[in-house]
Amino acid sequence: MQSTTLALMAAQDEIGPMPDCAIFADTGWEPQAVYDHLSWLRSPHVLLFPVHIVSTGNLRDDLLGASRGGRWASIPAYTRGNADDRDDIGMIRRQCTTEYKIAPIRKKVRALAGLTRKRSPREPFVEQWMGISFEEITRIKMSREAWQVNRWPLIEKRMTRRDCLRWLESYGYPRPPKSSCLGCPFHSDAAWRAIRKDHPEEWEDVVAVDRAIRRGLRGIRGEVFLHRSATPLETVPLTACEKTGQTDLFLDECDGVCGV
Ligand code: SF4
Repeated sequence: MQSTTLALMAAQDEIGPMPDCAIFADTGWEPQAVYDHLSWLRSPHVLLFPVHIVSTGNLRDDLLGASRGGRWASIPAYTRGNADDRDDIGMIRRQCTTEYKIAPIRKKVRALAGLTRKRSPREPFVEQWMGISFEEITRIKMSREAWQVNRWPLIEKRMTRRDCLRWLESYGYPRPPKSSCLGCPFHSDAAWRAIRKDHPEEWEDVVAVDRAIRRGLRGIRGEVFLHRSATPLETVPLTACEKTGQTDLFLDECDGVCGV
């Protein structure tokens, strides 16, 4: 929602200067609706600049590979050390955002700026915009690189997610689906329920992945689950959010690149 709004506002000349390009880091595990939306966004005459797609691999396949002893994809999945102790729940350290999002974007930016295998300039050389809305202000993070400055135009305009939706509607643009990995453990119950209700094939797949990682992750003690209750996804009632106001955990994803 926010990244699409940002790109389209730039295309409509409501935010400037005009970007050279947009970059989408594909983990290979997004909902089909996101890939369809991306195709629309990349079609001629929607934006006035290219949208590059970068990837370091398919996170879902790497996750299953890890459960069979292959490449390790470290998602923030939940662990239960003792099956009889309902409080013995932990979370695996998250490296997926860095590996599958931040690193390939950085590599592409450096390539586009002509910095591949070159020394980094000491002065700002690249301005990178991030699609973070006003209510997510805690997610902003300064660039760690002297050659790059980060900018959050939606926050400059104090635009919330709802404002983004209103702006898109005012131009007759389609409502963008939420971008995140299908099996991301940060999902709220509402997000899991929407996959189960609206996309049965994708639901079947995340349930299968949840089962497959249960006992097989290298170096992890106990059982592994995608749902925060540390119980099998297909057995979770998925009603908690109405009772508890539980939301997704993307606000805690402080790198600001997942769930935007
Ligand atoms: S959406 Fe979730 S699983 Fe995917 S890269 Fe981000 S934190 Fe990891």
